[in-house]
Amino acid sequence: MYELNEIQQQVQQMFKEFSDKHIAPVASKIDTENKFPLELFRRIGDMGFFGMRYPEIVGGSGSDVISYSLAVTELARGSLSLAAVCTMQSLMGTHFLYRFGDKSIFENYFLPALKGELIGAICMTEPNSGSDLMSMTTTAKITENGFTLTGQKTWVTSAPVADFFTVFAKTDNSGQLSIFFVPRNTEGVIIGKNIEKLGVRGSLTSEVSFQEVQLPKNYLLGNPGEGTKCLREILAEIRIMTAALAIGVATAAFNEAVEYAKTRVQFGKPIGKFQSIQTKFAEMSVQLETAKLYMINAARLSDLDLPRQKESMIAKLYASECAVRICDEASRVLASYGYATEYNLERYLRDSRFTLIGGGTSEILKINIAKELGL
Ligand SMILES: Cc1cc2nc3c(=O)[nH]c(=O)nc-3n(C[C@H](O)[C@H](O)[C@H](O)COP(=O)(O)OP(=O)(O)OC[C@H]3O[C@@H](n4cnc5c(N)ncnc54)[C@H](O)[C@@H]3O)c2cc1C
Repeated sequence: MYELNEIQQQVQQMFKEFSDKHIAPVASKIDTENKFPLELFRRIGDMGFFGMRYPEIVGGSGSDVISYSLAVTELARGSLSLAAVCTMQSLMGTHFLYRFGDKSIFENYFLPALKGELIGAICMTEPNSGSDLMSMTTTAKITENGFTLTGQKTWVTSAPVADFFTVFAKTDNSGQLSIFFVPRNTEGVIIGKNIEKLGVRGSLTSEVSFQEVQLPKNYLLGNPGEGTKCLREILAEIRIMTAALAIGVATAAFNEAVEYAKTRVQFGKPIGKFQSIQTKFAEMSVQLETAKLYMINAARLSDLDLPRQKESMIAKLYASECAVRICDEASRVLASYGYATEYNLERYLRDSRFTLIGGGTSEILKINIAKELGL
């Protein structure tokens, strides 16, 4: 179908083994404990995951996007909560520090975060500004010594445990966005309570408010007003990785339902021998394989530095919608056991819905795909 090179196969295998051995067995605990999975996060840091997309010269491995997407898929197959926080760290949490951080930010925050020693979070969404990012009201007023940051962010992944934040804000009346680095221990940074969620419950999420937070000039990441442009540069990768997260959780649901259908006997034969159950698996299989192809295609275009905005949106839209459908269908195969918390299927179904939202909702992606078509 698509041929992975030797390195891509090795990366996939390494994360597959780790996921099977160390993540899947504790995934249910991660879900119910409502606690940041720090120990596994650090171990994944030791495996070099957080540095995959950064050059070797800074301690990364300079991996291609295909390898990275395969690693994310394998982590998500074990636990979507864990994969979500790790992907957030390796991409959004550290990207702007790497691109624009000065020597002190780079050495004191970026490099430790690359090893998983520090946790980074991204603050864009606000209570009244979600898909419509440009409507945000957080401001960074220019002062003699730097900036005064004021505003309220919400849905910040890993905020309860984060060491630093990358915050989007407006610096003037032009309405353009700028990006700021904010260490957690800065005066005026207040972390709200954990938001209780339907799924990805091991990925802690909370509000963060910034109350007249004084920031020095060097905490502005990039040029003022260029936040949207900088975000656009990694948008395709964010979407490809959300597709990878979706494919991971869908694969877990699919595999477990296949095993169940082989062994659950009703009316004298395994339920997998009934045609209506077989049809479910055929349809799920087509969707899963198609989703993988879209993901790999978008990743391949990224690796070749070719236009990929439309392809990454298609990959994310298709994979997330399929993931929810596959987790639903797979849980029907287990019927009552798919409804029981003792089994994983109900968690997959809850978790999969996150992929419909992160990286842009389906509605927003459809609008933007249409725009790419010139409509
Ligand atoms: C688990 C989780 C983790 C998250 N982590 C982070 C994080 O770390 N940092 C961060 O900044 N944010 C984070 N978010 C927030 C996420 O990015 C937003 O939820 C997302 O951008 C959507 O915004 P919203 O929820 O406010 O929905 P809204 O934008 O209010 O949308 C509501 C509904 O209206 C639809 N809609 C909106 N505009 C249009 C339109 N023009 N046309 C048609 N339909 C439209 C949407 O598709 C959706 O169905 C997280 C969210 C979740 C669930």
